[in-house]
Amino acid sequence: MIASLLLLCSWGEKGHQKINSSAPQFFPARLNNYQTWSEVLSDHGSDPDKRRRVDPTEEIKHYIDIDAYTDFVQAHEIVEGKEEAINKYSIEFIKKNGTLPWMTDSTYQVLVQQFEAKDWARAVLTAADLGHYVGDGHMPLHLTTNYDGKETGQQGIHSRYESKMINKYIDSIAVNGSHLHKIKNLSRYVFDYIYRNYQYKDSLFNADKVAFEKANHEYNDLYYQILWNQTKGFTAKMIRESSKSTAELIRMAWIEAGRPRIPENIGF
Ligand SMILES: [Zn+2]
Repeated sequence: MIASLLLLCSWGEKGHQKINSSAPQFFPARLNNYQTWSEVLSDHGSDPDKRRRVDPTEEIKHYIDIDAYTDFVQAHEIVEGKEEAINKYSIEFIKKNGTLPWMTDSTYQVLVQQFEAKDWARAVLTAADLGHYVGDGHMPLHLTTNYDGKETGQQGIHSRYESKMINKYIDSIAVNGSHLHKIKNLSRYVFDYIYRNYQYKDSLFNADKVAFEKANHEYNDLYYQILWNQTKGFTAKMIRESSKSTAELIRMAWIEAGRPRIPENIGF
């Protein structure tokens, strides 16, 4: 996808804020002091997108064109381990098609180290980054070569869906806490949600087509209303699951770091 994605910001700023700010409500009582993280996680939910403007290496971390992989097209999965994937597909191919799952993994590892070092101020910013990459992994247009509808004559779908529609309707998405599960295998966990969320791609392209037809071939209010009606079920699900996965990953990193006691006031 490269260059033109620069202007596209995954769930848009509002979407990422919602995903990140809702994550702490999933934490169990022992992580109560994390509740204070909500605001910082929200404020920094789009930091990785902002970095893309100044750091040329940031861009490819926000997506994986999973359908560029023949293995995925044929068997619905790819080689997931970083080294094994590089050996099988080549570093050039991987970089060309985005490094999102491996970036999520390495951000998680940094968080574990910061928890171990009790470096709370840095840990919360890393957790915000982690929530951002998890959010991107729950956005079907960050998982396909047809990320902006060029291949199907639906150019501009990316910002219509993630920014304009989301900004208009995000307040009607409710995120409520629920039981968190332990993560047994990090790489499996991340690829699992990528494979799962990719499946909504076709419904999204179809909704865009239907809405455009019904709105007399214009991207007007009616178009957005129909797009929302057609996609709100799985859109709300993906936003909720992003939040929950962010919480699961933060909690898991904390467990892996030996469950350090979190001070009540961590200085922000
Ligand atoms: Zn992003």
